[in-house]
Amino acid sequence: MKKSTEEVSALQLDNEDPLSSFRERFVIDNPDLIYLDGNSLGRLPKETIPHIQDLVKNQWGKNLISGWNEGWYEKPTSLGARLAELIGAQPDEVVVCDTTSVNLFKLSAAALRYQQGKKGVVSDEFNFPTDLYIFQGVIDLLGNHHHLEIIKSENSITITDDAVAAAISKDTALVALTQVAFKSAFMYDIEKITAIAHQSGALTLWDLSHSIGAVPLELNKWGADLAVGCTYKYLNGGPGSPAFLYIRKDLQEKLSSPIWGWFADQDPFAFKLDFSPTKGISRFQISTPHILSMAGIEPALELLQEAGMERIREKSIRQTEYLIYLAEKNLIPLGFQIGSPLDSTQRGSHVSLRHREAYRICQALINPEKNDTSLRVIPDFRAPDNIRLGIAPLYTSFSDIHRAVDRLQDIIQKKIYQNYSSDHLKVT
Ligand SMILES: *Cc1c(COP(=O)(O)O)cnc(C)c1O
Repeated sequence: MKKSTEEVSALQLDNEDPLSSFRERFVIDNPDLIYLDGNSLGRLPKETIPHIQDLVKNQWGKNLISGWNEGWYEKPTSLGARLAELIGAQPDEVVVCDTTSVNLFKLSAAALRYQQGKKGVVSDEFNFPTDLYIFQGVIDLLGNHHHLEIIKSENSITITDDAVAAAISKDTALVALTQVAFKSAFMYDIEKITAIAHQSGALTLWDLSHSIGAVPLELNKWGADLAVGCTYKYLNGGPGSPAFLYIRKDLQEKLSSPIWGWFADQDPFAFKLDFSPTKGISRFQISTPHILSMAGIEPALELLQEAGMERIREKSIRQTEYLIYLAEKNLIPLGFQIGSPLDSTQRGSHVSLRHREAYRICQALINPEKNDTSLRVIPDFRAPDNIRLGIAPLYTSFSDIHRAVDRLQDIIQKKIYQNYSSDHLKVT
């Protein structure tokens, strides 16, 4: 069959792509499965398989408990130090532990208790639900003396710096935002917002779950105070791999974790009866590290560092622009809208396409009928009408993007989505 001009140019873009060889470093065994959900769960790097096997077979299997004295005990901080490079922090400002939600709890509670007298918490309506739930819970736990102010968007895609500035006052204790919004992919300028927050004496807490591994981060340079993020999205650490937390060096000893676990003590193995928090970032650890779940982060980090965040970002921008270009040409006429910022400096690494039949369209992409096509496209659906297409530059190809848009076009033009139910599944 003759290839369309668009198809040829997708192949050409892949040929010219300096990062194209990284795709082979991931397990991709079905060429007819286009995975555009690396922003929810990253793909499996090939190297992760022997790495985890070695850990289980040789370290756990043979070393048994002495593994704790052969690197396991320090793993949260040694891995944190490596992760710090990726976010522009010092090696002793990051620890890998717990989950993003738990780390949000620890850092937001600590920040509010430190900011005595200030009662405002500022966030936005784009934030991930768990973030907002955690802040509501912390406020409740601290006796309901604080108030959570949610900045609203005027266009459901972006939020202006002015809107953030207007929400912050001398009473604001904490500005807690997700840098890249999970629905629209709108991206804040951390440096600017941090400066605005600091003018009023507020601390900032950044959720980097949709940023790490996708956009270059310079937390020190930008003056960021606190940050958290997960490692199973663009970082490719594997399902349920632990999260990280960052605390600017000079704040570490001023803050106190609300959870006093033994791994935050000066000497966990002294088994004393009274808690005395250790110095440094480990005072925000809680308990026995998740050695197996952390293991996937190491080979994944290596891939990102080898490719380099600047090159990854450059490819990500070219790919989201290519996707938006194809969508404007072929999908807007079919009733889609672009649900992400068109300005790439304000956009993370996914693109949301909105359509009133988004749910059924997603079902048709994910579960094609046998007599229709063997091509499966995996995006994800975010209520009420977003189809999120995640671009993970290490393994997403331009051809993937082209084929996915082609398939979307077919699903509408041939009314394929009408064969699907609009009853929602539990995990979308
Ligand atoms: C994915 C994500 C989370 C996930 O939190 P868990 O505690 O790992 O379930 C939290 N916040 C944001 C912004 C996310 O994108």
